[in-house]
Amino acid sequence: MPSIELLEELALAAGPPGSEGEVRNIVRREIGNFGTVSHDALGSMIVEANGDAPGGRIVLDAHLDEVGFIVSAIDEEGRILFLPLGGWWGHVLLAQRVEVMATEGARLHGVIGCKPPHFLTPRERERVVKLESMYIDIGASTRAEVEDLGVGVGDPIVPLGLFSRLGESDRYCCKAFDDRVGVGLLIEVFRDLFTSDDPPASPVIAVLAVQEEIGCRGAATASYISQPDVAIILEGIPADDIPGTKQRQGVLGKGPQIRFSDPTALSNRSLVKLTKEVARREGIPCQIAVRKSGGTDAKSVHIHGRGVPTVVIGIPARNIHTHSSVIHWPDYLEGVRLVTALVRELTPQKVAGLTEY
Ligand SMILES: [Zn+2]
Repeated sequence: MPSIELLEELALAAGPPGSEGEVRNIVRREIGNFGTVSHDALGSMIVEANGDAPGGRIVLDAHLDEVGFIVSAIDEEGRILFLPLGGWWGHVLLAQRVEVMATEGARLHGVIGCKPPHFLTPRERERVVKLESMYIDIGASTRAEVEDLGVGVGDPIVPLGLFSRLGESDRYCCKAFDDRVGVGLLIEVFRDLFTSDDPPASPVIAVLAVQEEIGCRGAATASYISQPDVAIILEGIPADDIPGTKQRQGVLGKGPQIRFSDPTALSNRSLVKLTKEVARREGIPCQIAVRKSGGTDAKSVHIHGRGVPTVVIGIPARNIHTHSSVIHWPDYLEGVRLVTALVRELTPQKVAGLTEY
């Protein structure tokens, strides 16, 4: 049975792009004994189960990193200035708490400072504050104090989150569901497959990619090790059930999303068809998406080598790229069922059939 405690641990772990170690260690603990563990030179982790088996190599990809920040300067009054690592909107940041991961090892709580409404001019009230003019207060009054705490230019920063159930619902709120729901799905699917009496015979390779939020970099380098014949990208995707949207393709409670396309990748049509057939047969609700914005690790994976048939399966999450994204737990459970059944469906013959033209 998928574990909510595992998802909580994953979501609360700190993993800004380039500093994904905490999340990587959880994954290694959970699935490292199901196969051979290796890493690419950027830090992505690859767990290869049944590596020597004949048949198409099935890659499951989720990214370890989350949107964060990097220290760009420290001013003379001890404020930390920063740049984003990944996509942020100024509106969601003022007065939010963050954790500075100092080079020397200290983990320091801070808060992004802002003007109180009392001091705002009418014009300032209408505007979104730019990240370049924000600062983090870690309780220091001088640059020397900040430096004495071990903080320097280049140190990573992550949102500080709280994991909570909303009311008595099946909805949970935390930072980093993009992409810790994907990482969680991957772990649960691996556990289902390789603790069962009938594990799959094909090679199944978990790729935990680094640096997705700044350009799907780890997914590109890890592909040289994982050598996928088919890839399933697992994501926490933006829910679009917000006021004013009409054509909704990522609604909480309507099951996992099968993404056909976005500006970075087109899913393989035969693989999408197979995924939909598996969902129908297993009675798993799902939503089909054609997105005019956004992107996933499919961007890098589907054009690796001579090309890789790829599909993106996402769990809708509201408010992603903030401190407080929201998912519907049954969507996650259905996602585990769908991906597990799809991997079982991908026999060597079916994988070969995906690229018969
Ligand atoms: Zn993501």
